[in-house]
Amino acid sequence: MRVVVVGGGIGGLALGAGLRSRGFEVTVFDRDTDVTATGGYHITLDDRAQSALAELVEPKIMQRLLASGSALRLRERDAFWDRRGRFLGHGPDLSGSGSVDVDRITLRTLLAEAVGEDLHLGRTVFGVSDDGPQVLFADGTLVSADLIVGADGAHSVVARHLAGGPTNRPAGIVGFSGRTLRRDLGLPEQERLRSRSGIAIAPHGAALYVGFLDPVGNAALDAPELRMSVTTGPTYIWGAMLPESNATNALRTRRGGELQTAILETFRNRRWAERTLEVIAKAAPDSVAAFRFNAASTRAVDLDPWPTGRITALGDAVHATPPTAGMGAGAAIRDAASLVKHLSETDSTTAVARFEAEMRERGSEVLTLAMKTVKWILATDTPLGAAATAALTPILATAARLRR
Ligand SMILES: Cc1cc2nc3c(=O)[nH]c(=O)nc-3n(C[C@H](O)[C@H](O)[C@H](O)COP(=O)(O)OP(=O)(O)OC[C@H]3O[C@@H](n4cnc5c(N)ncnc54)[C@H](O)[C@@H]3O)c2cc1C
Repeated sequence: MRVVVVGGGIGGLALGAGLRSRGFEVTVFDRDTDVTATGGYHITLDDRAQSALAELVEPKIMQRLLASGSALRLRERDAFWDRRGRFLGHGPDLSGSGSVDVDRITLRTLLAEAVGEDLHLGRTVFGVSDDGPQVLFADGTLVSADLIVGADGAHSVVARHLAGGPTNRPAGIVGFSGRTLRRDLGLPEQERLRSRSGIAIAPHGAALYVGFLDPVGNAALDAPELRMSVTTGPTYIWGAMLPESNATNALRTRRGGELQTAILETFRNRRWAERTLEVIAKAAPDSVAAFRFNAASTRAVDLDPWPTGRITALGDAVHATPPTAGMGAGAAIRDAASLVKHLSETDSTTAVARFEAEMRERGSEVLTLAMKTVKWILATDTPLGAAATAALTPILATAARLRR
């Protein structure tokens, strides 16, 4: 059986690796020319995502991935802040968590290694045809397959073909991300942020998530010789969020230092204290990027409205998930493991039907979690929500101070 995978991102490469290891003939096509040219933020892999990945790649690849990961259970308890940098409360207790954070570049590089020569870069897919079925490339060439899997992300050509239109829409938030070395912050801000992640919230839909990544200090495994992490020292990987508008959308056209300055100006105009913005100001300018949050429906029944056939899709192509739950990549990996398992056990029509049924439920679960935070952030942008946030945060800050 010949499987063609459109898209060599996280889900497509995980699928390619798993199919290859089970002896399927598989080819993965991606438009990128370099697998390391991908967003530099980190990816959280929970226990379920790690188990799925372990079914798809050889133990030595899994070992190298974990050896460059940062364990969530080792970081301090996460924190909530207001826009003045006042502590509001703690996040959930992660001391029993099995989740790890890994650099997205490291994860993609290792998965690409697992797929080996079956990965073809610099190949942009233009469309798919049910006749064959076939994949059509931008350069006019065609490739036939027994099964085509669209793993081509939120703007999927394959899923659009299957669904007859887009499978997701803008979620109402524009995000900005960047990387800041902990040592580049002044001591007071290092002491405030500490070795933990946190999120600051403010009226009118502005939020700043600061994730802490330390593959050395918080190593998931005690195997220093195996580390291949892009992050080499304690690093804050931050994500600033603003409601989508003409003004915030215009920021998406900017890059690097120019974008960094514009983000700082926008948050200053929204009366964020200078110290809370230091993490943005001290970021490596070339790490700063803007992106729009896209989200599919949270309802399982809406997610793949097409009859089961010889073309299917997985990951963000079907259930595009905003990064607010840190589960989109994990879900794409779990989709891949489910498809490999069913294809190994039964005929392809039954396998695809079983895989799609599981994917619907999985997609709905992660989208529901991610949209909770999106809705919460957007609620602070209503007149009532803005007034409630402005009134409540000083009370929470005082209560937190008295408790300490
Ligand atoms: C800032 C941010 C932080 C995130 N943090 C987390 C996190 O902590 N944990 C988590 O689990 N998830 C996280 N996510 C989400 C996660 O990155 C995605 O959900 C995940 O990458 C989806 O995997 P995928 O394989 O479906 O799509 P992608 O990884 O997006 O891969 C799609 C691939 O298809 C290729 N492609 C697209 N169109 C074509 C075409 N026409 N022809 C050929 N190739 C094509 C692209 O080049 C790309 O490589 C985050 C996302 C963002 C933006």
